[in-house]
Amino acid sequence: MNEYVSKLMANVKAKNPAEPEFHQAVQEVAESLSPVLDRHPEYRKAKILERILEPERVIMFRVPWQDDQGNYQVNRGFRIQMNSAIGPYKGGLRFHPTVYLGILKFLAFEQVFKNSLTTLPMGGGKGGADFDPKGKSDNEVMRFCQSFMSELFRHIGPDTDVPAGDIGVGGREIGYLFGQYRRLRNEFTGILTGKGLNWGGSLIRPEATGYGAVYFAEEMLKTRGETFKDKVALVSGSGNVAQYTVEKLLDLGAKPVTLSDSAGFIYDESGITREKLAFVLELKNVRRGRIKEYADKFKAKYVPVDSKLDYNPIWDIKAQCAFPSATQNEINAKDAANLIKRGVYVVCEGANMPSTLEAAKIFLDHKILYGPAKAANAGGVATSGLEMSQNSQRMSWTREEVDHKLHDIMVKIHKNCFETAERFDTPGNLVNGANIAGFLKVADAMLDQGLV
Ligand code: NDP
Repeated sequence: MNEYVSKLMANVKAKNPAEPEFHQAVQEVAESLSPVLDRHPEYRKAKILERILEPERVIMFRVPWQDDQGNYQVNRGFRIQMNSAIGPYKGGLRFHPTVYLGILKFLAFEQVFKNSLTTLPMGGGKGGADFDPKGKSDNEVMRFCQSFMSELFRHIGPDTDVPAGDIGVGGREIGYLFGQYRRLRNEFTGILTGKGLNWGGSLIRPEATGYGAVYFAEEMLKTRGETFKDKVALVSGSGNVAQYTVEKLLDLGAKPVTLSDSAGFIYDESGITREKLAFVLELKNVRRGRIKEYADKFKAKYVPVDSKLDYNPIWDIKAQCAFPSATQNEINAKDAANLIKRGVYVVCEGANMPSTLEAAKIFLDHKILYGPAKAANAGGVATSGLEMSQNSQRMSWTREEVDHKLHDIMVKIHKNCFETAERFDTPGNLVNGANIAGFLKVADAMLDQGLV
């Protein structure tokens, strides 16, 4: 770590104590940006990175609601409005018991760079609550969403801040949130993305993050003259991102063999087919059951989570590709070493920051095809941007049109990261490419707009 980065990190840790995920995200970016700040003293002089690290606004609020038994419950809600230099704040809402300020700040920080990479005019934000939708009835989820929006509505708007989904926030939750916003404001606007198709949603939005990650990996493979044909792929998670990663992998001739949830993972050596995937969609999106049921139904191997292990056995299976699509820090150094030992040479991050700093270093040192989250999973927010454009025009595009635009954006993101990595003397290092390319656009906008 050079002197500038160590000083910056010491300051970040002192000012943001007990937020390890935020420190981790900042450190990765700061290390990538060292050569940029050396070449461009104007960014350092204007304290661009120091300003990007400080959220423009943090909103934290009480979310009281009543459960089905009539008991009162209280959760904590957040919205981090990180940076709006290139467009309205944009980023998902996460409902998960682990949510706290540090997680949302890391996500909002990453989102600034990611949104910049999409080529669309979107700033970065993130929000959510420490509410666990698991095991709650639809009515409880609705009451929670209504209470959450009863505060959030005064801070967001179609030209200010446009939230979307993330872990624990899918079509059902977006519906309840939108309904309450519309009622409070008496306005029908494109205030959230990921909406239902007959009330302003975009075709391909549900598929976009997973499809986008696979399109990104396809571009990485092309640099070695390869395709997905017959490649075995490990996928973690079984939610929105994982589901559509598997679907696109099948479209392109790969063989996905794993899926997981927070209780364990399944390994289906014969491959997850379209029919089996249809079962997963119904299991996870309608019945909201556990992935273990897949193993029971299709005679696949099921491995429950073992908290005593210091590695995750899902990453210790012979394959060529890995698509971590569950949550942050799900691949540690040991997992990274196992992946490489088992023959994996394509790691494409559907989840946000799924690899620890040590794991990412192992991937880079081994010069595998490594697609970092900010670039690889940007297809979701990019398609949210396309949903916003359709809402503004009061038009809807066809499935083919949106998919074509998504594909085009992912190709451009890969090209931008690849070329930027070369320009800054680290060819093939897409972590540097993504961080630098994402930074430059926001930094130049901030320089243009003066000290705000
Ligand atoms: P979902 O809620 O649809 O699915 C999340 C999946 O990951 C579930 O299978 C869940 O299992 C599992 N999971 C969540 N937390 C943990 C944990 N702590 N340990 C083990 N497993 C866990 O979320 P998404 O698919 O939308 O999001 C997955 C990842 O992708 C996140 O990192 C998110 O930030 C990122 N992402 C999502 C985008 C989107 O468009 N949705 C866009 C860009 C990034 P269980 O059900 O048991 O909790």
